[in-house]
Amino acid sequence: MPILDEELASDLARYRKQAREWLGTAAIPEVPLALTERFAVLRDWQKTLYEAGWVGIAWSVEAGGQGLTPMHHLVFTEELARARAPQPIGLIGLDVVGPSIDHYGSPWQRTELLPRLLSGENIWCQGFSEPDAGSDLASLRARARVDGNDFVISGQKVWTSWAHLSQWCALLVRTDPAAPKHKGISYLLVDMNSPGITVRPLVQMTGDEEFCEVFFDEVRVPRRNLVGRINEGWPLAIHTLGTERAGYTLRRRVDYKVAVDDAVAEIRRYFHDRGETAPDRVSTAIGRARVALDVLDAQTRQTITRLADNVGPTPEDSVDKLLLNDLEQAIFASIADLLGPLRSSPSARPFGLNAGRWVHNHLYSRAASIYGGTSQIQRNIIAERLLGLPRG
Ligand SMILES: Cc1cc2nc3c(=O)[nH]c(=O)nc-3n(C[C@H](O)[C@H](O)[C@H](O)COP(=O)(O)OP(=O)(O)OC[C@H]3O[C@@H](n4cnc5c(N)ncnc54)[C@H](O)[C@@H]3O)c2cc1C
Repeated sequence: MPILDEELASDLARYRKQAREWLGTAAIPEVPLALTERFAVLRDWQKTLYEAGWVGIAWSVEAGGQGLTPMHHLVFTEELARARAPQPIGLIGLDVVGPSIDHYGSPWQRTELLPRLLSGENIWCQGFSEPDAGSDLASLRARARVDGNDFVISGQKVWTSWAHLSQWCALLVRTDPAAPKHKGISYLLVDMNSPGITVRPLVQMTGDEEFCEVFFDEVRVPRRNLVGRINEGWPLAIHTLGTERAGYTLRRRVDYKVAVDDAVAEIRRYFHDRGETAPDRVSTAIGRARVALDVLDAQTRQTITRLADNVGPTPEDSVDKLLLNDLEQAIFASIADLLGPLRSSPSARPFGLNAGRWVHNHLYSRAASIYGGTSQIQRNIIAERLLGLPRG
């Protein structure tokens, strides 16, 4: 049974052709591994994509988007991966916090802040997690009090990706300490240049300083930067987390397909050039990765149907995120595992694999079962909200 109606399917086919043609002539950048250079190259790339109308595809026109559907966005994402073109740099803004601001934000927030998010002029970060509030996010303690026309924020966030390179932050703060913990939270948009903010980058095991500690000391934020209503930020936070899970899975599933295809091509070339056949462990690892990709593909067909029906984030997204975590770690572990013995042989030099990138991906994949909600938390959501099991 087709998962899309005919009219949408033919519109998407036209859009795919347009995207493929544009990408066929675009100057696709090489992406350096070093973080600072990578950031600069990908920011320019985001600007190029934005000016050509390929960013904010499913966002409202008022916010600077294209007013198309999430399906169009998915099609472009697939074509980007197919063209071996990188994603834009501002993904926390584009895939995580921005859609919630477009959905719940005021006209000022949408028309003044979001176009610069889309173009990459402003990079955004997500200030949700705290030292004692990760999985149990609603227990967050960073607080804000109202003082005249401002909120005044004090407290700490941690694991804030790209905070040191961001101009704006979507921040969760407690505005009513007396209310039950899910009720007294507000969603604020904070200019990272405000006085009183200190950002300390943390080094990850990849060697990159990609996430940070962020300290707020009596930071003043105008009231117009509140998204939605005061003390009613929790449903917005859930929207942001759901958007992150759904968007991330759909995007990464395509990236992994390409990663596996590239690895298979390079491994095949290696053995072909040496006149050898691949040992069983190589074929087994590749076979496992392919099966895992097929399972994820089957699961995400349902996600695509939900996207086509414009259903927002749902608990079902946790199934995708869980499968994706396992897949990401399995794929890059298999490739890293294969790389070891192949690279230790002197005759391995012709082997074209970009070892640095694969090793980086392997190390980064360890984070997949943590960010956006850990695998244990996804299992809890599936158990309680999809299967109706009693809370643990
Ligand atoms: C690379 C990376 C980037 C990140 N970027 C951001 C960002 O930009 N912004 C942001 O706000 N956060 C970010 N995070 C933080 C991330 O969301 C949290 O790390 C995550 O939610 C887990 O919280 P925690 O680290 O406090 O671990 P904890 O919540 O302390 O969990 C510790 C362990 O206990 C388990 N556990 C906890 N509660 C339960 C339970 N109820 N049932 C079963 N097991 C449980 C967890 O699964 C985990 O294994 C990032 C994390 C990483 C790794």
